Formats: sequence, structure tokens, C-alpha cells
Amino acid sequence: MSDAMRAVVIAEYGGSLKATRRPVPRPGPGEVLVRVRASGLCSTDLHLLSGRQPLGELPRIVGHELAGDVVELGAGVTGWRAGERVTAAIDVTCGRCRHCLAGDTQLCRSMKRIGFERDGGHADYVAVPAANLVALDDGISYEAAAILPDAVACMYHSLIHKGAVGIGQRVLILGVGGLGIHGVQIARCAGAEVMATSRQAQRLELAERYGALGVDPAQESLEAAVARFTDGEGVDVVVDNVGNRASVLQGLKLLRPGGKFLVVAYLDETFEVPSIPLFKTELEIIGCRGSTRQDLIDVVRLVQAGKVTPVLGASYPLDQIGEAAARLESGDLVGRIWLTRD
Ligand SMILES: [Zn+2]
Ligand SMILES: [Zn+2]
Repeated sequence: MSDAMRAVVIAEYGGSLKATRRPVPRPGPGEVLVRVRASGLCSTDLHLLSGRQPLGELPRIVGHELAGDVVELGAGVTGWRAGERVTAAIDVTCGRCRHCLAGDTQLCRSMKRIGFERDGGHADYVAVPAANLVALDDGISYEAAAILPDAVACMYHSLIHKGAVGIGQRVLILGVGGLGIHGVQIARCAGAEVMATSRQAQRLELAERYGALGVDPAQESLEAAVARFTDGEGVDVVVDNVGNRASVLQGLKLLRPGGKFLVVAYLDETFEVPSIPLFKTELEIIGCRGSTRQDLIDVVRLVQAGKVTPVLGASYPLDQIGEAAARLESGDLVGRIWLTRD
């Protein structure tokens, strides 16, 4: 192994994402060095670059979704060996606070996230705590595994744990992007009936292929479509992958009394909620943040069992991350973008 590697480093806010040379990290106590085989590009990476979502200390190697091979164990690591195929949960958590002890590691107040507060996976190598690793079997590709920790595990956490989505329920998913298309599959897998919205025909087609009823709200009234879908009752759960003021107001109106509105996206910084309807119908507005390692383990198992299919859009070599980012911003892709290593 050489001492230097390629890595995508944010040294200052603004500009474009590009790969530079960095030293290969050493695994600290309790950590494992992973040779990265694929990493998922997320629009959050673009928010980090712009400074819209500030990183802690700069410079920082970004990339919070990765898959690869264990190559070296740090001091005290047991239960893993070189050559094992792995992905990693994003949140590195304390394990001691009340949230960690209750299993709600996504709420740990002292977490450091891979690709945010600690170096991430848009690189040839990354050191991650062994406690974050999730093993992959041979039936799952590196690129499929590389998009699971955020795009897929987050939808699983939101729908299954926060939304308590199950058989017989009717779910409305606003927005069929990299998250929404997996939300469709997970909700269907849980036994729910699903309606999904997009203004792009190819996204609706894909959502329908995975068992959703597709609605283009520019072409037909979403209210009327939801009324038909639910015999006028309203849906049990709305998943908001859009995150603007209009999507929140509209989504709340489409819920049945007692329904749950899952806040997954945050395009607008604030939204207003009419208080009387909220009070009279006991609507629940629920914030959904990330996922736990157990969520990721569950998602890997669902993918390996063929119950959820990671939707991959396009691949670029790590060195072409700038082109990949431009493609992501263009919005013409349905699935996720992953970065290859060669
Ligand atoms: Zn992400
Ligand atoms: Zn904690």
C-alpha cells in the first residue's frame, strides 16, 4: 500500500468538488481501515461544499456513504478480518448518553459523522470505528451497498420507526428522488399502499414499477387523487422529501385525522402550520433524522433478500466527482450517483 491516496477534500467553502492527494489514514484504537470500492454522492455533499450546511473543522474529506474491504485493524479490534466486505453507518456515537443507551443513536448529542465531523469515504481509504461496520454478503455489489447508509436506511428509519408504516396503511410520498424511490419500495415491503408524486414522467414510471400509484401534481389535482386513493379518508402517513413550505401545507391537508407527517427534507428553513386543524384532528408532525446502525443492518438484509432494490442512476470515477456533482445538480437522474475506484 502506498502512503498517498486520492481524496475529495473541502478546504474552503465554494468552488467545485475535486480529488487531491492525501496521506492514507491510520486506523486508531477501535478503528478499521477500509479500502473504499464505491461511495455514494449525495446532494448533502453539495450543501457541505457551498457552506449552506457548515462542516466543523476544515479541511475535511467528505463522503458519508461508502462500501469496501477491510484492510487493517486498529488496536483492540476483534470480530473483523482483512478482506471482509463492508459498509458503514454514518453516525459515530458516544454509546453512553441516554439516547445511545435507548437505541436512538441518531439523537446522540456528541456524535461525529463520517464525511462531516470526521473524514469520509470519497477517498481510496477511510478509517472508521469497527462499531460502525456492517458486513455485506457476496450477493450485494459495492455500488448497491454504497448508497444504503443514507438514501435507503434513512427512508427505512423514517417509514418503519418514525411513521410505524405497516400492512393496510396508505402512504403518500412527496418527491421521487434518490430517497423517495427507496421509500416507495420500503413502504410496499411493509404492506402499505403507496402513492408517490413527481413532475417528471420517468420518475413516476419508476415509482409505478415499484408498486406505487404515480401522480404528477402539475397534471392533475393531488387532493382529488388522494381522495380517490383513500375513499375520501386521507392518507395515514405523508413522507415529505420535498421540504418546502408548500409541500408541508399541502401534505398536512392530505392526512386522515391522527395521521403522521414525516419531515425528511428541509429545503425551506421554516414552515407555518395552521394550529386549529392540527389541534382538531390530532395530526402528528415528526422529524426524521438519519438512521441507526441497526437500521442499516436491516436494510442490507432486505437488499440481500431481494426485497428492496437500490436504484443506481449513474457512475463516475472518483477523479470525475466534479462532473458527477454537475449531473446531480442537473436533476435529470432518477437513481443515486456512485463514484467508482480503479
Ligand atoms: Zn446523504
Ligand atoms: Zn450518545
